[in-house]
Amino acid sequence: MTDASFFTANDEPITPAAPAARRSLQAQVRWGSRLVTVGGDAPVRVQSMTNTDTVDVIETAIQVKELAIAGSEMVRITVNTPEAAAAVPHIRDQLDKMGIDVPLVGDFHYNGHRLLTEHPACAEALSKYRINPGNVGKGDKGDKQFAQMIEAACRYDKAVRIGVNWGSLDQELLAAMMDANSRRAVPWDAKPVMYQALIESALQSAADAQSLGLAAQQIIISCKVSGVQDLISVYQGLAARCNYPLHLGLTEAGMGTKGTVASATALAVLLQQGIGDTIRVSLTPQPGEARTQEVVVALEILQSLGLRSFNPSVTACPGCGRTTSTTFQELAKQIDDFLRAQMPVWRGKYPGVEQMKVAVMGCIVNGPGESKHADIGISLPGTGEAPAAPVFIDGAKAVTLRGDNIAAEFHALVETYIEKRYGGNA
Ligand code: SF4
Repeated sequence: MTDASFFTANDEPITPAAPAARRSLQAQVRWGSRLVTVGGDAPVRVQSMTNTDTVDVIETAIQVKELAIAGSEMVRITVNTPEAAAAVPHIRDQLDKMGIDVPLVGDFHYNGHRLLTEHPACAEALSKYRINPGNVGKGDKGDKQFAQMIEAACRYDKAVRIGVNWGSLDQELLAAMMDANSRRAVPWDAKPVMYQALIESALQSAADAQSLGLAAQQIIISCKVSGVQDLISVYQGLAARCNYPLHLGLTEAGMGTKGTVASATALAVLLQQGIGDTIRVSLTPQPGEARTQEVVVALEILQSLGLRSFNPSVTACPGCGRTTSTTFQELAKQIDDFLRAQMPVWRGKYPGVEQMKVAVMGCIVNGPGESKHADIGISLPGTGEAPAAPVFIDGAKAVTLRGDNIAAEFHALVETYIEKRYGGNA
């Protein structure tokens, strides 16, 4: 073979794919002296929402704690009644007592103006208010109620999310835009008008908020819809028209595999284009499923795109007819669970451990190769192969495990590797 069979004179190197940069304004979400930045040069933030009754202070604080420990950097809670508003400062206190460093976002609909005005301790304890322009009220009354909420944000120095949602879009605005569209020489289809109405609703409200004194960088925008292609269309249009930080999420994504895949598909396309400064995955928990699953999925989306690193990654082959035992599946799961369970402690103790790559492979076809590319990897014996499992550390074969105790021995090797590579004496 000659060099010419590999490259021609006109070949250009293939550029490695990477998310595009989008430089938006940067919002500051504060609580006490603590701060989470959103947008600008901040990493894409992960947020989540509780599904507890906010009036139940302890239950809500516990769920916020679980979401925060899972990796949520902001947690939204429903503030829908005077009792819920009265509970908010107590939830904040409870979190502070538990040492949970996460800002609370208040989700307001219909009566937010009253709750924020009549419950100043709630307005103070929250770090950010979510306002849905579609249900702050109609006409002059709506303008006044919107203004009351923005005034509270200015008074207490809070960030605001103008959160438009397809399901609660301002119907007066939509009707006016549909009318205007019908008078065009060549009217658009209804769908693009709907996209435009979502964006218009958000941007008009943001402009109103600015004219009321809220700083532009303290305004975060979302325009959520439940269809993947609709979300991509709307956010591309939104990103082209403003530089506010964008909250990205597919609303009502659904349950389980469907919700996870739909969210990942939509968010990945947009994040790759540099669109999105904070994400939420709106999964409906399956019966018995932890609320934290939405955070797990959000972290995986960002880590898979190479935008952030949260947990060591475990590469495991899918298995096939060459491996008829479940040993390697069990080992891959054990290692994955072990790494995730340890991360809250390891994050502080072993800086950089979140970038570690572990491989657990099922046979010699790809096992040794993939294991060599990982920081530490094991190639388990496939059906009919010698009962030996070579372990590769930093690309070189380190040891071969044999017998019934392979899982426990590999587990110990991973721990030793982490201690050596990322421990204080590393
Ligand atoms: S590494 Fe081996 S067991 Fe795993 S999928 Fe490939 S051929 Fe099958």
